[in-house]
Amino acid sequence: MKEEDVKQRIKDYQQAEGVKSLTCGNNSSHDKLYPKVLEQGVVLLCPNCNYTQTYIPDLFFDDGFYDWLRGMKSLI
Ligand SMILES: [Zn+2]
Repeated sequence: MKEEDVKQRIKDYQQAEGVKSLTCGNNSSHDKLYPKVLEQGVVLLCPNCNYTQTYIPDLFFDDGFYDWLRGMKSLI
């Protein structure tokens, strides 16, 4: 899967209602993490501090999960 596609999936997930957003590992009251494509691949960054998460959960590579997520979004 292309890195840009993974990034888009994470963005969609972070904007979805009713799912547990990916949050900062330093402080969970910080804003939601956002995806960025770096040389090493897709990472998750905190908008409020220098927290960087390089682990991308497997579900973002799962087409079934993304279909489900898009289904959720269309209900909003
Ligand atoms: Zn943070």
